[in-house]
Amino acid sequence: MAPTLAVWKFASCDGCQLSLLDCEDELLAVAGEIEIAQFLEATSAVTGGPYDVSLVEGSVTTPHDAERIQEVRRISNRVITIGACATAGGIQALRNFADVEDFMAAVYASPQNIDTLATSTPISDHIEVDFELHGCPIDRRQLLEVLSAYLNERRPAIVPHSVCMECKRRGTVCVMVAHGTPCLGPVTHAGCGALCPAYHRGCYGCFGPKETPNTASLSGWWGERLGVEGPDLLRVYRTFNTSAPAFREESEAHGG
Ligand code: SF4
Ligand code: SF4
Repeated sequence: MAPTLAVWKFASCDGCQLSLLDCEDELLAVAGEIEIAQFLEATSAVTGGPYDVSLVEGSVTTPHDAERIQEVRRISNRVITIGACATAGGIQALRNFADVEDFMAAVYASPQNIDTLATSTPISDHIEVDFELHGCPIDRRQLLEVLSAYLNERRPAIVPHSVCMECKRRGTVCVMVAHGTPCLGPVTHAGCGALCPAYHRGCYGCFGPKETPNTASLSGWWGERLGVEGPDLLRVYRTFNTSAPAFREESEAHGG
């Protein structure tokens, strides 16, 4: 019997699930090793659980989400969360710093029909998670590595260092040192291959915080040498991973 895989969606844009479909060349090999038992983005054919591995995309934003994630944990041997929404609450976690009732009144004609929670929270706030894969969206090579690792009962080889290491590895000139372009690479988790600096752009942190990031030091550097301070720094940390503790605390240090 091939191990079974289920893919679940919570509050998200579907981009991380699409990363699995985006595997193209590798997808047939993956499908040869595992039975894709539930993946509504790809097929309406569903095989009932329990499942060996569940991939969970999205954050918990409704009372129904909070109940459903408990059921996913109950019927899954391994739970792997994928992407900024599932691992850090996503951009929808901006509500955590404001009143969600105000947002609903501004966006919806009939906000009384909306059933939502006051916060958007990562899956790990609700259930035990076996592995978190970062990125907005995730990197498909890292996804394949994680799936391969769990199929072969080994630890995933996902390094927790910064995007700067990937710049050095590919020989990219540092945009911050050479051109004064603000870059969050020193505090951001590797995984994209330093994509933005390779195109002469600063990193804006879509992979979330690296292991033990020194955000205070980077903010000080930006302030002293690049003139980025106060509310501008606050906004820098309030994007896709706004509720990841390191980014949340650094944003709050600049006025939020
Ligand atoms: S460009 Fe950004 S990620 Fe690359 S080395 Fe410089 S600071 Fe680090
Ligand atoms: S360089 Fe930064 S913003 Fe660009 S893809 Fe990589 S992690 Fe995301």
